Amino acid sequence: MADFKVTELDADFDFDSLDYWDVVIIGAGPAGLAASLTTAHRGLTTLVVEAKDKPGGQPQFLYSDKKIVDIPGFPDGITGEELSERTFRQATNALVQFRFNEELVTIEDTEQLEKDDPLKRVITSQGSYLCRKVIMACGLLHYPRRLAALDQLNSKKVHYKIPKIGDYEGNQVIVVGGGDSALDAAVMVLQRAGVVDLIVRGEATSGKADTLARVVQQGGRVHTNTEVISAEFAGDRIAATLTGDAQIECDHAIVQIGFLSAKETFERLNLKLNDDGSIAIDPYYETSRRGIFAVGDVHGDIKLIAVAWAEGIQAAIYAFKEITSPYWLNEKRLHDHKIALIGEKMSHAASQTLKGKN
Ligand SMILES: Cc1cc2nc3c(=O)[nH]c(=O)nc-3n(C[C@H](O)[C@H](O)[C@H](O)COP(=O)(O)OP(=O)(O)OC[C@H]3O[C@@H](n4cnc5c(N)ncnc54)[C@H](O)[C@@H]3O)c2cc1C
Repeated sequence: MADFKVTELDADFDFDSLDYWDVVIIGAGPAGLAASLTTAHRGLTTLVVEAKDKPGGQPQFLYSDKKIVDIPGFPDGITGEELSERTFRQATNALVQFRFNEELVTIEDTEQLEKDDPLKRVITSQGSYLCRKVIMACGLLHYPRRLAALDQLNSKKVHYKIPKIGDYEGNQVIVVGGGDSALDAAVMVLQRAGVVDLIVRGEATSGKADTLARVVQQGGRVHTNTEVISAEFAGDRIAATLTGDAQIECDHAIVQIGFLSAKETFERLNLKLNDDGSIAIDPYYETSRRGIFAVGDVHGDIKLIAVAWAEGIQAAIYAFKEITSPYWLNEKRLHDHKIALIGEKMSHAASQTLKGKN
């Protein structure tokens, strides 16, 4: 029976012909990348679904320039960006397949069996994928939702954070969103003598009424039932096309359309959670749902890259063992379960003895 065998997939392999994936991994941060190259090195067809347009997770998006000094083997440190690039390259070399700009929506159990293993259907914002095992490696942080029409400009003039003092002095700015953060951003720009067009997809704003009143009072223009359909550069200004073909030019765009919420996702998946909202796992990194593993920040106490790697690798190997040699794991689980029962009986007996003494 195959076990710990490094069998790289063939470069000519036609992934489009697959009826199902062996493993689908959610998140291309440190945990997901480490898990993915481990399963792919063992010959498992592996797909990584990532909400952002790039791999790397927090080191790439939150501290790409910082020198990380606690990764073994890099005595002079390594930047978040370089570390992400290297790990991603290692995964693509192992023929891991990636889908970017795609968010996990939910995971369904299906009736379809493959070697007695019921297949799962991973549903994302762009499609769905049948697979045998899922590894959740999507971290706990809440990322701002991005707007594709503006994001494709790949410009420093498109902002996902509230403005800093002075950033927008006297500029024309479009603010996308109708919640409190969007209204706050609009007020801050207006207070710096900026001109604001607030683009709201719904019929009305959802943020605080008094903040909206300040926006209007200070000359902000509110466009409801309106979306940014596309955008391009006209010189160094952004030219946006809105619903109904209206055109608008601006110096900056601020997008405040909510966050990717990890908790919402976990609840939708019906996974057992810990008190702090992280995913509960067993000693094999498996969640309360069979065949779904969770690694890295999604559950961990110790939030470090090396820990996320180690967990990703371990879950990947357990997933591999379940696929290739399920009896090994079942026997070991049975054994662990018996030990857990003995432990429970002993602590029950001890508490009865204590009660008797009191
Ligand atoms: C400012 C800062 C500095 C740090 N410095 C260090 C350091 O020096 N050394 C160190 O070891 N650790 C450091 N850490 C911690 C470290 O970055 C994390 O522990 C590590 O990134 C966790 O990796 P992960 O893969 O579990 O999660 P993440 O890095 O959060 O990656 C999760 C990935 O999943 C994606 N995702 C989220 N939701 C979805 C969804 N619904 N569908 C699809 N994809 C999704 C995300 O976009 C992301 O790419 C630091 C953290 C911060 C915030």
